[in-house]
Amino acid sequence: MSDALTKEAGKSGEKKALVFDIQRFCLHDGPGIRTVLFFKGCALRCAWCHNPESHQSRQEVAFFAHCCVRCYACREVCPKTAILTGPDRRIDHSLCDGCGNCVAACLTRALRMIGKTWGTADLLAEVRKDRDFFISSGGGVTLSGGEPMLQAAFLEGFLPFLKGDGIHVTLETCGHFPWADMERIAPFLDLIYFDLKQMDSARHESYTTRGNGLILDNFRRLAAVFQHLQPRMPVIPGCNDDEKNIFATAALLHECALETIHCLPYHRLGEAKRGRIGMGRPSPDLNIPDRPGLGPAVERFTREEIHVVAYD
Ligand code: SF4
Ligand code: SF4
Repeated sequence: MSDALTKEAGKSGEKKALVFDIQRFCLHDGPGIRTVLFFKGCALRCAWCHNPESHQSRQEVAFFAHCCVRCYACREVCPKTAILTGPDRRIDHSLCDGCGNCVAACLTRALRMIGKTWGTADLLAEVRKDRDFFISSGGGVTLSGGEPMLQAAFLEGFLPFLKGDGIHVTLETCGHFPWADMERIAPFLDLIYFDLKQMDSARHESYTTRGNGLILDNFRRLAAVFQHLQPRMPVIPGCNDDEKNIFATAALLHECALETIHCLPYHRLGEAKRGRIGMGRPSPDLNIPDRPGLGPAVERFTREEIHVVAYD
């Protein structure tokens, strides 16, 4: 992209993105070598979420207890008396307004701000650093989260510049977005990974806090108009790998003339992260498994004549 276009990106950058991580050289989030942008904010609260720090659409402070030397410099600068003195928790998140004073005061980086705002030009410059890898590997940029579609107003200004650079763009979505937003964004997407978590709306709501009506509507609409739609299932043994749910998911794929699903195994990376931002454990009533794995989902999809790509 020319300097003039980059300046143009700066001008159109009134809309800011809130991004909580940027990971490079990723191999599992689309074709080739990818740079993954993790957008902060999501409409769902999946009990098994491995990125719980993505939920809130605002910056928040995380506490890394193993780095804390208990100097309490943080306490001196907190205007909300939100600093706790116990061994495991340092922040009372019900009082904290995210001002960041404590993060600046903590010399051992025991307190870190989750989420950074980016303008269009700056984020564009950041991903363009990896363009040689995209070209040599057939890779590109993946929009992940959180739910990137919650920041559709930013994407609308940002994605045309990636398109102008010829950079392949993959969207990873939970499917909970207004259709009008997708109509504006879809022309700039090359591939959509769309999560199907649970086909029974009441069970979907119990695990994620939202029913699945809007999600399934969006899936069917996308399947009708978007060529490169790839359904995925985060497989949570005991929550969505039962015969009934796999059968219903396979039926939806057949209805939409889709033959393949990507299955992502459950793992427990989210647990430690929950503690750092003051989130409790999911309700034991939900029976979130304490062991990783894919369970019998692959065999059940195969029986329903759906091809499975199983992730590690
Ligand atoms: S300033 Fe950092 S190291 Fe000191 S008590 Fe606070 S969190 Fe711990
Ligand atoms: S971010 Fe601000 S309000 Fe929150 S704990 Fe730190 S100093 Fe206090």
